[in-house]
Amino acid sequence: MRLARYRWQGREQVGIVVGDRVYSLSARDPDLRDVGDLLERGREALSEVQQVEAAIRAGERPLPEDVAAPLEQVQLLPPIRRPEKIICLGLNYRDHAREAGMPIPSEPIFFAKYANALIGPRDPIPRPRAVVQLDYEVELAVVIGREGKYISETDAMAYVAGYMVLNDVSARDFQFRTGQWMHGKTFDGFAPCGPVLVTADEVDNPHALRLRLWVNGELRQDSHTGEMIFSIPQLVHYFSQLFTLRPGDIISTGTPPGVGMGRRPPTYLKEGDEVVAWIEGIGELRNRIVREEALRGQMGAMSASP
Ligand code: MG
Repeated sequence: MRLARYRWQGREQVGIVVGDRVYSLSARDPDLRDVGDLLERGREALSEVQQVEAAIRAGERPLPEDVAAPLEQVQLLPPIRRPEKIICLGLNYRDHAREAGMPIPSEPIFFAKYANALIGPRDPIPRPRAVVQLDYEVELAVVIGREGKYISETDAMAYVAGYMVLNDVSARDFQFRTGQWMHGKTFDGFAPCGPVLVTADEVDNPHALRLRLWVNGELRQDSHTGEMIFSIPQLVHYFSQLFTLRPGDIISTGTPPGVGMGRRPPTYLKEGDEVVAWIEGIGELRNRIVREEALRGQMGAMSASP
């Protein structure tokens, strides 16, 4: 299934994408505020939604007719509103490590983003006033579906609800001020994600997906999730040793080569640039860089509403 959170006719809703339309589940279920709520409710709630989807595909009308909206016209929002954790991998692609001349890490390198960074797949990315070296990173984001601690690699995939594209927007001039990368990673709007949550049953092998990123139509990143150093089961296992994983938690699995910082000379994003991040079978994010001041007052509406 493709599960979306979106704004349509002034209301935030959760829905299922079928073809070029999104069908709202919120009309009959006002407590449903994001895709994370569905995950919290567990397997039965998801299989009910699956039945609704099957009925729509079969041409039945399980929902009132007026709940469908054209996908192109809704404002898509981050599928997960307030994840407890957004865990981001650093240096998790072999080809990226080769390009950077860095050794393959023996333990996962990670940092965090906060929920303030989340924006929708078509929202503008604000360039903060102090940031000069604004960069992009296309990544496959894994969304956790079940609570778990000390999860084995063998069981790990049963804890994965699905996948999104995430652009790990980075301010390089802040990232390397100290040894802590987080300085440059969690400005408002630095994690466009979506376009929807694609449930795990739709993805045969998450380690066999092509991922690409363009800036103003120029291809900058082009790799394959098979290049990951630590696989998804290894990451789920590893992080579950450190803390309890919860439904809605996001693990962004790192980026391949081609980031602006690695170009000769380095090439950073500027206002007006359009960044398209795409992963095979998952979808694309299409975000334009906009001056932070031009977005004042809109950020709350764009990302996690209170
Ligand atoms: Mg990254």
